[in-house]
Amino acid sequence: MTAAACFAQSYGQARSRFMAAAARAGLDVQSLVHPLRGQDGEALALDVARAGPADAPAVLMISSACHGVEGFCGSGVQNALLADASFHAAAQAAGVAVLYLHALNPHGFSWWRRTTQDNIDLNRNWQDFSQALPANPGYTELADAIVPATWPPTPDNEAVLAAYAARHGAPALQTAITAGQYTHPDGLFYGGRAPSWSRLALATALAEHATRCERLAWIDLHTGLGPSGVGERIFAARHDAATLARARAWWGPGVTSLEEGSSSSAPLTGMIWGAVGEICAQAEYTGIALEYGTLPLPQMLGALRADQWRENHPEAPPALAAAIRRANRDAFYVDTAPWREQILAQGIEAAHQAVRGLEKDLAQGLSPTR
Ligand SMILES: [Zn+2]
Repeated sequence: MTAAACFAQSYGQARSRFMAAAARAGLDVQSLVHPLRGQDGEALALDVARAGPADAPAVLMISSACHGVEGFCGSGVQNALLADASFHAAAQAAGVAVLYLHALNPHGFSWWRRTTQDNIDLNRNWQDFSQALPANPGYTELADAIVPATWPPTPDNEAVLAAYAARHGAPALQTAITAGQYTHPDGLFYGGRAPSWSRLALATALAEHATRCERLAWIDLHTGLGPSGVGERIFAARHDAATLARARAWWGPGVTSLEEGSSSSAPLTGMIWGAVGEICAQAEYTGIALEYGTLPLPQMLGALRADQWRENHPEAPPALAAAIRRANRDAFYVDTAPWREQILAQGIEAAHQAVRGLEKDLAQGLSPTR
């Protein structure tokens, strides 16, 4: 399968290609159907394909579109892996079942949004909503400048953000904007007040497919941070020394950590891998977000700010709205041959590394540390 054939130009095309790739690999697809429709009127779903028996001692999850529009990238990686017979042979020989989760947030994927239909950032939504939610005073202070009343933003809007960065440092500005907030439903990086449809669908898939294994690994595919085409392996599991060491043994010493401050991402709240502790507590878990760069951070955030402004202003001129939507898609999907080839090479490598890591731990009979 050529690199170009793995990637798509719409959610519907991506879904068709995933279904076809799964069928060619001899896999059934289970679809958790979303209640709404996509921008072309198409059905939306979280599609789940499993390679390997229900009682496999280890499961490797590969997921796309946690952040909707980022699914153009993740879906491509999934399709390439589905076509990779050597990968499936290695996984089968190792006792590793591979679980493909196509489009965790299909609504955002179809509509070229990072968020779910209720403007929720799925990677900030894994909170216990019966408890007090994390405060983000920086976001509250900057909310009206981050998503301003008019687009493009006024010089005053930009001055507010620049002054915050001058006072607290650029990383603090990134944290204020992106860490997650639970107070501004019309803002960016909003974690919601309740579990989103996508969270509930993921929970359903995990309960069925990942509650019997001894060991569980997860590569969650993202875009938007870091140098273009470079896949940063961001540790996405409970921060303890043994788990971090295991992730680095599998995926290399370059695995970055939010807690250590070594990642291009700011520290976040309510991350999706919280699902594992809640639903798959029987398994020893190791995971990363594979985060591919697209644009420099200010441009990426600029695209998100514009698109949130557009979302909040349905009266926006149609030509402006269309340009903003397109720019948002382009900010998370660099649709060029060299970029796509870089993406696939790194995604396939990370998946093989996870299988080898799981195989080694299983062969050594290491008892899970949990
Ligand atoms: Zn993402």
